[in-house]
Amino acid sequence: MHGLADRRGHAGIRVTVESWGRYPKTAQRVISREWRDEPLAIPAGLSVLAHGMGRSYGDSCLNDGNAVISTRRLRRILEFDPAEGVLRCEAGMTLDEILDFCVPRGWFPPVTPGTRFVTVGGAAANDVHGKNHHVAGCFGNFVRAMELLRGDGSRHVLHPGQDLFRATIAGLGLTGLIDWVEFQLKPIGNRWIDVETIRMGGLDEFFALSRESEPSWEYLVAWVDTVVSPGRGLFIRGNHDTAREPSARTAGKKPALRVPFDFPSFALGRFSIGAFNELFYRKQLRRVSRQTVDYEPFFYPLDSLLEWNRLYGKAGLLQWQCLVPWAGGPEAVAALLKETHRSGQASFLTVLKTMGSKPAAGMLSFAGPGITLALDFQRGGETLKLLDRLDSIIAEVGGRLYPAKDARMSGASFREFYPKWREFEWFRDPAFSSSFWRRVTEA
Ligand SMILES: Cc1cc2nc3c(=O)[nH]c(=O)nc-3n(C[C@H](O)[C@H](O)[C@H](O)COP(=O)(O)OP(=O)(O)OC[C@H]3O[C@@H](n4cnc5c(N)ncnc54)[C@H](O)[C@@H]3O)c2cc1C
Repeated sequence: MHGLADRRGHAGIRVTVESWGRYPKTAQRVISREWRDEPLAIPAGLSVLAHGMGRSYGDSCLNDGNAVISTRRLRRILEFDPAEGVLRCEAGMTLDEILDFCVPRGWFPPVTPGTRFVTVGGAAANDVHGKNHHVAGCFGNFVRAMELLRGDGSRHVLHPGQDLFRATIAGLGLTGLIDWVEFQLKPIGNRWIDVETIRMGGLDEFFALSRESEPSWEYLVAWVDTVVSPGRGLFIRGNHDTAREPSARTAGKKPALRVPFDFPSFALGRFSIGAFNELFYRKQLRRVSRQTVDYEPFFYPLDSLLEWNRLYGKAGLLQWQCLVPWAGGPEAVAALLKETHRSGQASFLTVLKTMGSKPAAGMLSFAGPGITLALDFQRGGETLKLLDRLDSIIAEVGGRLYPAKDARMSGASFREFYPKWREFEWFRDPAFSSSFWRRVTEA
């Protein structure tokens, strides 16, 4: 079964569930949770794990040999305050569904990742960040309350400031199952974004543009070439438009295309990615281009191609996303790009962004002050060797990797990157586990 989002599993039947990276391949029982007042179904002798849209790349949403509880039927709005923009909804509701509800009403998610096909439970459990991290922080910073169902049947309404709240935000689904989340939305005038795209020749320009843009631009991100000329790229900055009328909040959804089959492994080779990078970099003739665009292509360019992960072939893809602190960070980013280029491995989508200093709400939150770099590769033996070398570069400067994107970091690396994992263990629900957690804490 490819993901749980589109095809539902039957309770008690072992099926192969894939995460977005399609690696590792695991088999687990799938239990669908339909109502919040249902008791938690825990098969005898097995551990369980909540599973949203499976948009994590690696094994943090998988529970090999055990069971996952799909939350996708828990998708009801429970309360909405249209004056204050506070929404309480079930944890299986996706950002896509929330956007359909709140944009016409003049509200927007306070933080959104690069895909709208994630559940609110998944956004809380990974404490996701977006293009506005430098001003807003992470999703968990906007959660006002959530209800957690523990394996022993107890229910806990959690608020910021409580230890179990801190453990559950970015808690990788291991403190129990979140049934609902209440969070603060952000007011918007309409659905449009004013965007500037600037061609940048290298990392120095990236850092200068980031410094210049941070005070006045809400959304910042850069696409970076790693194949032809490492470090050059496009710097993209955006703000919610304030000029148009609120009536411009609704729009017909554009139909998305779907990748119909697994591409052969050579399709995303160094040559084709290099050619794509060249075209992408040069598609804009002027150094700066200004446009006002709908929020969908601005925030979610990849969502217009459904199942784009099949472009990477059957072997799947490996995402590698790090955070490096400011001290030594710029040099580390340069070394990471150099090492990737030298290896001959091609990263199709390379994203670079500075992050802000708002303290994260979770004990194991990934985001923090510094620079984040995300690379993605077709999975293969040489790639794994390269990623081990990249791990060493970030370890030297006190960086860390994002568990939501990971399928291969060593247990030793995880424990070094997240020294609070032992404190976290105290809050973990003994009935819950994941393939990721066993991999990084037992090895
Ligand atoms: C194209 C793409 C772009 C992305 N861009 C970003 C980005 O910009 N920033 C970012 O931070 N991330 C990004 N991600 C990662 C994604 O946002 C996270 O992995 C997110 O958590 C996925 O949500 P999900 O509903 O698919 O959760 P799943 O992947 O199904 O699960 C993720 C984790 O949440 C837990 N969980 C899910 N629901 C519950 C619940 N109800 N109760 C308790 N635990 C629960 C699971 O146990 C698991 O540990 C991106 C992913 C993709 C595919």
